[in-house]
Amino acid sequence: MLNASRTRSKVAAVADDLTAAELEKLFGDSDGLCPYCERLFSKEALTLDHVIPLVAGGANSLFNLLLVCAGCNARKKGLTVTGKALREIRNQLGLTQQELADLLETSLNTISRWEIGAMAIRSPGAIRLALKYLQGQRRTKGHQKA
Ligand SMILES: [Zn+2]
Repeated sequence: MLNASRTRSKVAAVADDLTAAELEKLFGDSDGLCPYCERLFSKEALTLDHVIPLVAGGANSLFNLLLVCAGCNARKKGLTVTGKALREIRNQLGLTQQELADLLETSLNTISRWEIGAMAIRSPGAIRLALKYLQGQRRTKGHQKA
C-alpha cells in the first residue's frame, strides 16, 4: 500500500459504484461478523475490502467485496496462499475452476495460472480468506438468496 489517501479514494470509488441497496445487502449479509477472524463487530467498525484488487482485474461487485474489520484488513496483507493450496481449497468447496472464476469475477485463465503457479496470486491472503468465507456460506445452506 502506497499511502492512506490512496486507500481512501479506492473505497470511495467502490461506494460510488454500488447502490445504497447493494451496500445495505452487503452489511445485512455480514451480520457484523468479520469473515476473516470470525469475530463480531459493530457494522460501523467494518471496512470494505476488495477480494481481488481492481488493478488485478477484480470487479466492483458484491461478490468481490467483503466487509472486514480494520484489523484484518491490515493484517491480511501478510497472509499467503500457494497455487497448490488454492486448488485444494477449491476442491474442498466442490467448485470447478470456472465456478471459482465466476465467484471471484476473474477469468478461468487466471485461476488456472494461479493454480499451476505460472502467475503470482495477487492479494493471496484475501483470496484464501474469501474462499473460507464462501465455504461458510455453503455450510449454512442458505441459498435462498440466489
Ligand atoms: Zn477481522
